[in-house]
Amino acid sequence: MVVLTDKFGRGISDLRISITDRCNYKCVYCRTGNEGALYGDLAFADYLRMARVLVGMGITKVRLTGGEPLLRNGVVEFVRELAKLRPQGLKPPSQSRDSSAAEAAPLQGPADQGPTDQRPNDQRINYMKQVPRRAAPRNNNTGEVAEDRLDIALTTNGHLLADLAQPLKDAGLTRVTVSMDAVDPDRFARITRVPGGYDHVLAGIRAARRAGLWPLKVNCVLMRGFNEDQVIPFGMFAREEGVVVRFIEFMPLEEDRVWSPETVVRLEEILARMAEYRPLVEIPHARSETARRYRFDDGVGEIGIIAPVSHPFCGHCSRIRITSDGKIRTCLFSVWDHDLYAEMRRGASDEELAEFIRGVVMKKEERHHIGEPDFVPASRTMVHIGG
Ligand code: SAM
Repeated sequence: MVVLTDKFGRGISDLRISITDRCNYKCVYCRTGNEGALYGDLAFADYLRMARVLVGMGITKVRLTGGEPLLRNGVVEFVRELAKLRPQGLKPPSQSRDSSAAEAAPLQGPADQGPTDQRPNDQRINYMKQVPRRAAPRNNNTGEVAEDRLDIALTTNGHLLADLAQPLKDAGLTRVTVSMDAVDPDRFARITRVPGGYDHVLAGIRAARRAGLWPLKVNCVLMRGFNEDQVIPFGMFAREEGVVVRFIEFMPLEEDRVWSPETVVRLEEILARMAEYRPLVEIPHARSETARRYRFDDGVGEIGIIAPVSHPFCGHCSRIRITSDGKIRTCLFSVWDHDLYAEMRRGASDEELAEFIRGVVMKKEERHHIGEPDFVPASRTMVHIGG
């Protein structure tokens, strides 16, 4: 059994690879809107070799991210190659059969909106109005992956997902997380600074459901003054679309340096806002899971809250990241990165790469220091790391 651990005894099982530094959105809380890509990207064969070595060391889950990963031609073929890798390590609790109570729990929304949903991709619903409630069955499709398969996930803004969801699923993608920061189309455009994106993303979400990319998660970063009033509409959206909506506290990882403690919409406030719509009941989450999980009191719809600012989870962090230009980052808030690609370029063998990676993992930071007087901004912002 292969398990990669750091000096604090944390098992490292989760790898995120940014496959491009480019993004087609300019979200106000992420980018300046003026800068483009800052770093290059590598050939897929290079990422594949890195992934193969890391999977041999205990990585059981690979998430593709960016920039916007779907901008990269060849992503489907890359997923097909990744899917041939076989994990060697222990499945983290959230992925093992023993914890199926926690992981199998996501509920579908209305019964007719699962993978067989025939609703047009572009049919909008006004989530700023009360959405009628309908009974929903439990989801039988748990999204669990076979023990011997690599769990391959994707984080995307969803703009290009409608046409790619099925090919990605066929290639071996396990699941997808779509970032979406408003369910009001005008607000969505104001945040992304790209006109007309909302309908593309909604179509992408529905296509992903139909393709069986499940559980389907929708991540919303809340930033005060922009979208904190979207909490209840997103609760309705979760119930109507049958997706798990997860709110993320805004972290100081933006290009514009606009973060302050006041801009963060914290876990307690999110819960209080949602309670005005209907009560949430907390449900178990796996130790390594970043999100606290909640279900509405009638069992319809799941909400998650990722609260790295108000309730840090560094003690259970199981992640390392590879940037688009091949650097390892051991924490989102690292002030340095480790050039794995340089090792490859100088002709290192797989064993030498593994040795390098083991040394890097030993340097993984104990925790972040957001909001503390000694906080030092990360050496890259989120879009250039890969969230
Ligand atoms: N383009 C893809 C997408 O939109 O999902 C992947 C890259 S994006 C940088 C990954 C995630 O990071 C998105 O969910 C985004 O909302 C989130 N993110 C960006 N900046 C953030 C910040 N300062 N704090 C918290 N989350 C942030």
